[in-house]
Amino acid sequence: MDAMNNAYLGANAIAIALALASGVLYAQEPAYVTDVSFNHATSQVDVELSLTIPKAVVENNQVTLFLNGSFDVASVEGETLAGHSSEASAQIPPWNEHVLEFESGYDTHRVSFSYSGELNVDDGHGNEVSDERIHLTIDSAWHPIFANFATPMQGTVTIQLDDSWRVYAPGSTTRAENWVLLESASPQLDVAFFATRNDNAVEENGFTVIYDDANTQLATELSSVGATCLASLNEKFGQNRPLDSASLVLLQRQGPSFARANFLSINSNNVQRPPFGYQLVCHELAHNWTAIGNVMSHDYWIPESFAELVGAREIQSQFGDDAFQSLKQSWQERADGTEFVWRENVHQRASHRVNYGLGPLKLLQLENRVGAQTFDQFIADYMTSDITETIDLLDLLTSLTNSETAAWFEDQLATGELNE
Ligand SMILES: [Zn+2]
Repeated sequence: MDAMNNAYLGANAIAIALALASGVLYAQEPAYVTDVSFNHATSQVDVELSLTIPKAVVENNQVTLFLNGSFDVASVEGETLAGHSSEASAQIPPWNEHVLEFESGYDTHRVSFSYSGELNVDDGHGNEVSDERIHLTIDSAWHPIFANFATPMQGTVTIQLDDSWRVYAPGSTTRAENWVLLESASPQLDVAFFATRNDNAVEENGFTVIYDDANTQLATELSSVGATCLASLNEKFGQNRPLDSASLVLLQRQGPSFARANFLSINSNNVQRPPFGYQLVCHELAHNWTAIGNVMSHDYWIPESFAELVGAREIQSQFGDDAFQSLKQSWQERADGTEFVWRENVHQRASHRVNYGLGPLKLLQLENRVGAQTFDQFIADYMTSDITETIDLLDLLTSLTNSETAAWFEDQLATGELNE
């Protein structure tokens, strides 16, 4: 117990020093300093965190955070906190919405949370806390996130795990005897990481695949695919924001695959039917260059459809035209019956059949119209921009071509038709 406490204090001192040293960097975004420990037998997490919230993200003196609804929240405290309430989310029922109300007149607010609870590891989302591995994603709501799905955070997490564990996460990790400190390298909407006592890993040119025993063969193939994509995408888009290395966690699990900067987690069931199925690795890597925006908005087709197309082009250059045609065919199957990609006056989020089907096909239509060279420039301009809204994407197209082409593309986005 004493050893634990010393480790806790040591880690927290470093975390706070990092947070202070990074004060300027974090000024725009909420910043967390989080400590988490586990009961591996019961899948329980125990969390203490401090969240610094700048007034820029506070509206009407309030912010709303999501947190796992089954957790026992022991305390929510802050000097500028005027009120706190929580209730089950109507939008996402397993989660609670915590509404924090602040006193006005402050530039920042600091709120401390203390909570614990068991994760539901059978809900099909791929989260796990066992004595062999820990996989925590957005779907577990183990850490507070902003309920608008549009406010990224930065910070540090101290993970109480001894040195028989290896930890992978977005950003960087520092290992001590009894804990690992994660420091995020870029703002993200959530806090995700993976820890394992298994030492399966294969690395090629900065691309590491960490895998379970079910994926030994696939891991070797994906390390090669990923290394080639990583080099190619850096060459095309990495001038301002290079991705020096990346880690892919490859597990036979349930739940979605996802990417957060240099950390990728892929459900190996999603990477079958090679070679075109390997596109998912390049798709996830491409997300390093697609700005986040609001993941619940009608503009969310942009990062997904561009990542699809960019990933498919990488597979085409590695495996040839047949693989690309197979991907195009899968887009056509998904797009069948969808009515449009984006309309200015419709604000619902596009379906996955649009994001991974009709969207990339509409981009190919644009390529047909403007030619490969201009289209490649359009892709590169988007991937090196911070564009998250369709209006701004159309402006980019206007500046690269002309207003007539942009108006034509806007009309194309508004229909499900695939003929010119
Ligand atoms: Zn994606």
